Amino acid sequence: MPELTIVGGGLAGCEAAWQAASRGISVRLYEMRPVKETAAHKTGELAELVCSNSLGAMDPGTAPGLLKQEMRSLNSLIITAADAAYVPAGQALGVDRNIFSQTISDAIAKHPNIAVIREEVTALPETGAAIIATGPLTSSSLAQSIQMATQSESLYFFDAISPIIDAESINYDIVFRASRYGKGGDDYLNCPMDEAQYNQFYDALMAGERVPTKEFEKTPYFESCLPIEVIAERGRHTPLFGPMKPVGLVHPKTGKKPYAVVQLRAENRFGTCYNIVGFQTKLKWPEQKRIFQMIPGLEKAEFLRLGSIHRNTFINTPRLLSGCLQLRTRPGLFMAGQLVGVEGYTESSAMGGLAGIYAARMLTGKPLIAPPSTTAHGALITYITESSPTYFQPMNINFGLFPPSGGGQLTSPAGRCGNADVITGHQDTVSRGELPSSATYGAGPSRPTNGRTPPAAPVGAKAARRHAILDRARQEFSEWIAQYDILADILK
Ligand SMILES: Cc1cc2nc3c(=O)[nH]c(=O)nc-3n(C[C@H](O)[C@H](O)[C@H](O)COP(=O)(O)OP(=O)(O)OC[C@H]3O[C@@H](n4cnc5c(N)ncnc54)[C@H](O)[C@@H]3O)c2cc1C
Repeated sequence: MPELTIVGGGLAGCEAAWQAASRGISVRLYEMRPVKETAAHKTGELAELVCSNSLGAMDPGTAPGLLKQEMRSLNSLIITAADAAYVPAGQALGVDRNIFSQTISDAIAKHPNIAVIREEVTALPETGAAIIATGPLTSSSLAQSIQMATQSESLYFFDAISPIIDAESINYDIVFRASRYGKGGDDYLNCPMDEAQYNQFYDALMAGERVPTKEFEKTPYFESCLPIEVIAERGRHTPLFGPMKPVGLVHPKTGKKPYAVVQLRAENRFGTCYNIVGFQTKLKWPEQKRIFQMIPGLEKAEFLRLGSIHRNTFINTPRLLSGCLQLRTRPGLFMAGQLVGVEGYTESSAMGGLAGIYAARMLTGKPLIAPPSTTAHGALITYITESSPTYFQPMNINFGLFPPSGGGQLTSPAGRCGNADVITGHQDTVSRGELPSSATYGAGPSRPTNGRTPPAAPVGAKAARRHAILDRARQEFSEWIAQYDILADILK
């Protein structure tokens, strides 16, 4: 029986083990707890939820709900366990955390193809097929080994996440397109402020309620990713020399230089969502909405992701991994879970599931095919493997990651991203940006659709577009499963 090593018995590792073992692979699953603790886990159970007991929205009309629906159709252990442990939580999939991790631990323990080994793995396996899914609290020796293998300066021990806004919710009568000193074309949207608006915003920022820092997170911030409110603490004018500096910008309508500016940068190549540049923050979420909606042009901003800064471990996936989650320099070594730059329990589990399927297919001589980027799984994979390595930060699933549903190419065929014989040294046949036409990974232009952002749409039109995105995703995910026999190799 082909063998696979999985390191990390968290959400991603368990889902990966389940998917691979279900396909006839012999899995050795290494989990260091309870022999070695992390700073946040409290038990020795597999797939422990370290914080909230919610797996997020379950309404299939939302992006997180769609991801869960896709996972369900892949026979996900995590979603099955969540259903078994369900507790009422409004629109969210709330679970009894003990029943949840106990259900997963039992299923893994009973699986004839999985052996659980309670041991810390201190270095990346050098040979054989393996999946690394050690999460945000990867032990330091393994983190060091990953860092060396990936020639990374660090594994980004702090997420510095700025809020992301739906492009359709921006007021284009107020913002203007320009880059400072005209360098970089019209890549940025600029929200101009006069002095009174700036002072009002500054006072609100200073008074905003913040998330307390956890004990193990009390490491100094990197100077280059300070929270916006910490920059503001240094003085009323400090943000004007940092992320809010107005230099090199003139309002095209008034011909005047704004007193302050907040810049928005397209977060994806479709220009459907924008990042507030330099606005990583530890403000509480309701406070972020209230205060950032004071920015001119963002009065009705719809936040697809809110900002945060927390301790994390993740790799620079766009630089390091292929579209099928293999380390480019070491085919056969897959990475999964939060380590690859997704945020959240469900997203991490989904990436574990895909890694498990890919590893099993590779070991049984089947081609590795990524789901189309029009699906929730595919949208996440596209984001983590095709984003700019320079600005890469972890992401949750949201509608902004999907190609727009109206106009242009509606379908994006699945991407062939590796060969069954990669384990013997054959490199991925397809690298980003060089996809053969028969296997285009993702649709649309290769850079944001500058300046062509649609004006704010009426609510009905927007809802219709989201329905179209959802319908297309469901159809193309089913087609991906059927066309590439994704479920056919599951042992009956
Ligand atoms: C403090 C904190 C709070 C969070 N709160 C939330 C939240 O409320 N909601 C949410 O959606 N997400 C939250 N997250 C993110 C959440 O942890 C991840 O989304 C999710 O658990 C990641 O899944 P994973 O499988 O990648 O990692 P994990 O679930 O953390 O699993 C990794 C496993 O690997 C093990 N491991 C680590 N190193 C080694 C090693 N060297 N050898 C063997 N085993 C090892 C760990 O013990 C762990 O069991 C939080 C993260 C942190 C750190």
